[in-house]
Amino acid sequence: MKECDKFREECGVFGVFCRESERDVSALVYYGLFALQHRGQESAGIAALKNGVIECRKGMGLVGDVFRGGEAREMRGPAAVGHVRYSTAGASSLENAQPFVSRFKLGSIAAVHNGTLTNAEVVRELLEDAGIGFTSSSDSEVIVNLIAKNYKKGLEKALTDTIQSIKGSYALIVLTDNAMVGARDPNGIRPLCLGKISDGWVLSSESCAVDAIGGEFVRDVEPGEMVIVSNEQVLSFTFSEKTRRASCAFEYVYFARPDSIIDGVDVYGARARAGEILARERPVDADLVVGVPDSGVPAAIGYGRAADVRFGTGIVKSKYVGRTFIAPDQNARERAAAVKYNALKSEVKGQRVVLIDDSIVRGTTSRRLVSVLKEAGAAEVHIRICSPPVKFPCFFGIDTPHRKDLISNSSGGINELCQSLGADSLAFLSVEGLLESLDGKEGYCLGCFIGEYPIPVRVEAAWGDLYDIQQFEKEAGYKKPV
Ligand code: 5GP
Ligand code: MG
Repeated sequence: MKECDKFREECGVFGVFCRESERDVSALVYYGLFALQHRGQESAGIAALKNGVIECRKGMGLVGDVFRGGEAREMRGPAAVGHVRYSTAGASSLENAQPFVSRFKLGSIAAVHNGTLTNAEVVRELLEDAGIGFTSSSDSEVIVNLIAKNYKKGLEKALTDTIQSIKGSYALIVLTDNAMVGARDPNGIRPLCLGKISDGWVLSSESCAVDAIGGEFVRDVEPGEMVIVSNEQVLSFTFSEKTRRASCAFEYVYFARPDSIIDGVDVYGARARAGEILARERPVDADLVVGVPDSGVPAAIGYGRAADVRFGTGIVKSKYVGRTFIAPDQNARERAAAVKYNALKSEVKGQRVVLIDDSIVRGTTSRRLVSVLKEAGAAEVHIRICSPPVKFPCFFGIDTPHRKDLISNSSGGINELCQSLGADSLAFLSVEGLLESLDGKEGYCLGCFIGEYPIPVRVEAAWGDLYDIQQFEKEAGYKKPV
């Protein structure tokens, strides 16, 4: 079992449907997946429609490793979907890699999913009782098998029935032998958008991947909406009456690429605003603002602007230590951080530095960077974090570390935390400040910050004995569903 040292990045989904049957869309999906690589680096896969048959290739590793030597190009056809995934288990995860393909009497379908179903076990049991076999332990396979089981009712009915049976978070793309369908859960927790290319349509986790293939962003898929793209037309259905948008706020803080626009809010802008607000909420006398590359940089630019303190590159990051750098223990994690970051001595020497990062999970990054900056001669290091403390687990697609390892839960409070990081001061953005940076007061899931969730969650099922459930319920105000 791999050490869970961070939130696990979730997944990225991408699909293209073209009318022109000679078009090489697998290559487009391949490029789209590159643009979504930050959302998952452990496995990648593409399923393409070729002469009416769905063909699928997937493997462990980065998109470029799985589709070496232009393999994706060989899968020519008018429609294809792809997936990048960050799995939670080690060697056995190939079976959990996506797309999932199901071939049955009436046709075949492929599906890619980002999110977590909260009732997957129940639905899975019902399907198994009905004699349907599973090849993986993934909740996403439940979706494919449900659609396949309902398929004789027709595609639309099969999809709406399926969607009405599943609960949790999902940004979903389904490829059939004559259509591509996108659906987003009634809270829209995970992002999904619609784009256009000259002769077809695109569905993507993030708009940056639509840009990457030269497409045009059209709009976000709405919470509780299903979009069906076929040769004739693009249809939209609202499958859920009770929709209340609760987009994941952590997408804006860390997960998404800064050049994406999600639910009308541009990620870079939100990060820069968060920095500005933090400068207002938590000012400090300083000479230099430094952002932790890469995701802390937009906020640092905003902080510097609002505080009228010079923004500079005080830290250099190795491009080749990936987000997946596997670190089995705390020692190794610290070494990993040392390989990953170094200070620019000429910039930071003698300076009072404000060090801006997007979030603190275990505190490894901040601790390392404070010591790197001080060794390089920084006079003071003040940590400013552009999100509220992460204190609670996520049940909707992000696999959080054990609660006890979220450093913001440590008992000594913020002063002790500041000391343990070796910093001269430490402060976080407020929840109100985060919402302000997102241009709104509501419409976001803040579960990992405040412990309130848009959908009831079964703590026991999701966390087993990892976790002191009663303590969590007390602190989170979470009530057991009856
Ligand atoms: P820490 O070092 O405190 O454990 O984690 C915080 C750092 O990790 C920040 O620099 C942040 O950008 C990054 N981070 C936050 N969430 C995630 C995640 O889900 N996965 C990975 N790999 N890094 C993350
Ligand atoms: Mg970072």
